[in-house]
Amino acid sequence: MELRIIGCTGSMSGPESSASCYLVRARGFDAQQGQERWWNIALDLGPGSFGRLWRHIKPCDLDAVFFSHCHADHIADIISLHVYKRWGPGAQFPPILVIGPQQTRHRIRQIDGCDDTETYEGEFSFIEASEGVPISVGPLTLTPYAGWHSVPSYGVRIEGPHATDSARRVSLFYTGDTDECESIIRGAQGADLLLSEVGFTSADTTRGIHMDGARVGRVATQTQPGQLVLTHIQPWVEVAQVLGELRSTWSGPVSVAQEDRIFQVGGISS
Ligand SMILES: [Zn+2]
Ligand SMILES: [Zn+2]
Repeated sequence: MELRIIGCTGSMSGPESSASCYLVRARGFDAQQGQERWWNIALDLGPGSFGRLWRHIKPCDLDAVFFSHCHADHIADIISLHVYKRWGPGAQFPPILVIGPQQTRHRIRQIDGCDDTETYEGEFSFIEASEGVPISVGPLTLTPYAGWHSVPSYGVRIEGPHATDSARRVSLFYTGDTDECESIIRGAQGADLLLSEVGFTSADTTRGIHMDGARVGRVATQTQPGQLVLTHIQPWVEVAQVLGELRSTWSGPVSVAQEDRIFQVGGISS
């Protein structure tokens, strides 16, 4: 299982990257095709990310999109995927699974300017995310865990085969947008890779929306990930400040997400 950073700028697109989007890939058997293939899941599709995703895979090769929550900086480019699927080269392929909070289809209609008669049934099939209820996509299993944000939100634990040792299962946890909370800590426990938002700095003292570096460090210390990757840093924030705040509560390894960077979940087996 690998994680590709498609877009990682917090709250908007920025000069270095689009808004939030992460591609999770793993090889696994496809019973319909009778052969092994790559399975592809996009975590969020923020503004500008659809085109950047296309540089990595054909959009019709997406098996699923998981929406952590329905803020526009995480879902807006679903409209690009909708156009590609309805009128473009994606039209000949089956609907793509869209997993998200209860209001996901309603929020897509709002962005699209459509009323309730629009179902998107040719393009998407919808599954509502539920705390602790696993969803299988090929060799990957996604389990949502509720976040603490200004709208309903989920982090997600994804388990799948290691890139070079398929008998070994590895795990990734993506926080979505959230403040530190018990359910996120439960879901992230012992993950091989923790992809964590850090939408605030210590100057932002509001609770229940985002984490700052110190809060992320506390989550990491309580969950002990094999690898910690920071994301959703707003474009005007200095990364050095974020890392300085993180180091007050976490002494383990840390990376900062950058567009096109690829992480092998669980590391490379020798
Ligand atoms: Zn956000
Ligand atoms: Zn948000």
